[in-house]
Amino acid sequence: MDLPVDEWKSYVFQKWSLLPKSTQVTISTAETLSDIFLHSSLLLQPEDEMFLQNLSRGYLVEKDPNAPLFYREEGNKKFQQKDYMGATVLYSKGISHSRPHTADISLCYANRSAALFHLGQHEMCLKDIMSAQMHGYPERLQPKMMLRKAECLVTLGRRQEASQTISDLESSFAAKPTLTAAQFQILQTNLCRLKMKAQEKESLTETFPAALTKALEDMDLKGENGQVPSASSSVSLRTDPLRGRYLVATKDILPGELLVKEDAFVSVLHPGEMPPLCHLESKWDTRVTNGDLYCHRCLDHTLATVPCDGCSYAKYCSHDCMQQAWDLYHSVECSLGGLLLTLGVFCHIALRSTLVARFEDASKVIRKLCGEIRNRDTCSPERETLVQTLTCDLGGESENKGKMLEPPVPGCDLNGKYESNYNAVFHLLPHTGNHSPEHRFLCALSVSALCRRLEAAGCYKPAAAVPPGSGSELDVWGVAMLKHVLQLHCNAQAITTIQHTGSKENSVTNSRQVRLATGIFPVISLLNHSCSPNTSVSFISTVATVRASQQIGKGQEILHCYGPHQSRMRAAERQQKLRSQYFFDCSCAACQNEKHSAATGPRWEAFCCRSCGALMQGDDVLICGSTSCTESVSRDHLISRLQDLQQQVGMARKLLRNDKPEGAIQLLLGCQRDAQSFLSGEHSLVGEMEDDLAQAYAALGDWQKSATHLQKSLQVVEVRHGPSSVEMGHELFKLAQLFFNGSRALGSTLKPRGPHLGQKQGRPHLRQLGIALHAIRMFQQDTDKSIPTRPLFL
Ligand SMILES: [Zn+2]
Ligand SMILES: [Zn+2]
Ligand SMILES: [Zn+2]
Ligand SMILES: [Zn+2]
Repeated sequence: MDLPVDEWKSYVFQKWSLLPKSTQVTISTAETLSDIFLHSSLLLQPEDEMFLQNLSRGYLVEKDPNAPLFYREEGNKKFQQKDYMGATVLYSKGISHSRPHTADISLCYANRSAALFHLGQHEMCLKDIMSAQMHGYPERLQPKMMLRKAECLVTLGRRQEASQTISDLESSFAAKPTLTAAQFQILQTNLCRLKMKAQEKESLTETFPAALTKALEDMDLKGENGQVPSASSSVSLRTDPLRGRYLVATKDILPGELLVKEDAFVSVLHPGEMPPLCHLESKWDTRVTNGDLYCHRCLDHTLATVPCDGCSYAKYCSHDCMQQAWDLYHSVECSLGGLLLTLGVFCHIALRSTLVARFEDASKVIRKLCGEIRNRDTCSPERETLVQTLTCDLGGESENKGKMLEPPVPGCDLNGKYESNYNAVFHLLPHTGNHSPEHRFLCALSVSALCRRLEAAGCYKPAAAVPPGSGSELDVWGVAMLKHVLQLHCNAQAITTIQHTGSKENSVTNSRQVRLATGIFPVISLLNHSCSPNTSVSFISTVATVRASQQIGKGQEILHCYGPHQSRMRAAERQQKLRSQYFFDCSCAACQNEKHSAATGPRWEAFCCRSCGALMQGDDVLICGSTSCTESVSRDHLISRLQDLQQQVGMARKLLRNDKPEGAIQLLLGCQRDAQSFLSGEHSLVGEMEDDLAQAYAALGDWQKSATHLQKSLQVVEVRHGPSSVEMGHELFKLAQLFFNGSRALGSTLKPRGPHLGQKQGRPHLRQLGIALHAIRMFQQDTDKSIPTRPLFL
């Protein structure tokens, strides 16, 4: 997904293998990115572009006038099955394929408003009703929609607007004798019901996630850092030849302290893990992807997407986001949708970075890149070129020339400030020499193809800043994009979110971390890697926050994990991953320790002695670890017992899924007794069983018992993944949900009758919210397992 699709990859690799040896050598030994780009670009033939164009057609990104009806009908089917979520997404797809001010778009909006209404999304429902009306919703269908509008307003406690809508409805009925008696009767009944509801309605309390998200958004950096504005004053930017640029603590830091808060320079939403449509039977795709559920600009989750007017691919949470995206980059990207999906997210980010930069700092960028192109005949190594482009930039002001002798930290501006801007992005290392010649060729050819399309579409505007003889401006643009694509290999940051699975009725939902987008964060890229980092990263929209996950002493380096974490991978595997993706050998504390300590099995896979309970040791035959005990047993025997137990647990889960929590509990309690006789108390399966029990008790509404089991599961998770892991966060979040549901259940049966009762309930409620807040914070931490960030100058 980050790289181009496989078909294009193998096409380019084959092209590479058929090139004359001398051409291969020229490209392989090219000293600068400009040379690599210009040589490769000359080799891009019209038939290559044709091939790529055909691949791009596999993605349906244009508006198809026949699609809205199809999606509306599919949506109606889901609606009838009461799958309102599924219906909403299908109506959204219909909306994104409709042209503005058509019957199609107004009908899709109206239908979506009905689905949203059933999902309890009243605000969104109201917005969709407005959109339906704006796009010309048919008069004869109005009454039903107005009734829905009134109902939303009543539910939201907006009484005045509600009664206005109700009286409008009444007068329009009076004016419409076309209504049949039966229709009139139904409407009258509904109106009466609504009026009564409006009178009863008390103000609505804020829902659990909304309250917490708000609390989280209020988090700010403690003190402004003069040198790195996105970092707190507790850290400072350093540089040395060994570590490159890095951050250190300037004072003692406590766990949880916010160290960096940075908005992505750019981010691109991942289209989702689905193959292009050409592999499917149906012309239109009914599957749900991230692209249907998250704003393509701010990455907020939304059910009521607002589509781009020009394409069916880009969707946003609001008109504001749509307009911003259009002004910054989508006006160029809109017609390139299929090509960008074919070339992959890295190419897309590369293009978007240059588009955003043009508006931010256009002439400066061009000058820098011209410096690089001008130097292409001098065969200077890339590092030198970087320094030159930087000093060239400094030389722009003649009185600053004296400072050239002592260049500031790369990526900083004249005042030594390191900001999250294009200058900083530009100075992230592309590690050109570490990529294979084929990979460089693939990237260069992909970017060339993109440039040709940009040229054909008339997307680039010549700037006056280009000195004559420095190559065309489009080439400069191409070199910049090639550089970004190569940088991303080591510097891309996965932006993740938590997706909830499982039914709505299940009060303890399961969740998994999914990758939502890829972004560039120049400040986070300053952090070096450790397999046992002292920070963790989390995201709200496109904003990343880095918090201390443990105490960090003054002078210690701030470290971040690029993915291979010690709790998930053994040292050898981590080393291999880091070497292949980030081109370095890790020598962090965890790697050093693992090298020296004997390879003892992890506690979460350990067996225990059936007579004394001590941990068993050994390979094929396990012997009790206690010196006073002589118990021994074959590993095979224990493994087959473990498998039996897993099967039983699987059956219990099935019962749970089929709404038979009592049966599940019976079975699980038996499993627990069995487990005690041979598994360590910290075995993963023991933890999982506690978790299942918690779910079963929650299904029965026994919050107390549920919480007890969840707390036991929490202990096991902590042993395996550490106190600040994302796994731990998930468990804590579940616990918070339990407390919340528990207190709500209590609240509904025991309505406070006097002030003293209310107070009594209020206090634990606050404490539970505190726990929930903590849980959410932890549960949003951590980075993606595959592609986190890389800093520079190793
Ligand atoms: Zn948005
Ligand atoms: Zn568009
Ligand atoms: Zn390590
Ligand atoms: Zn023993």
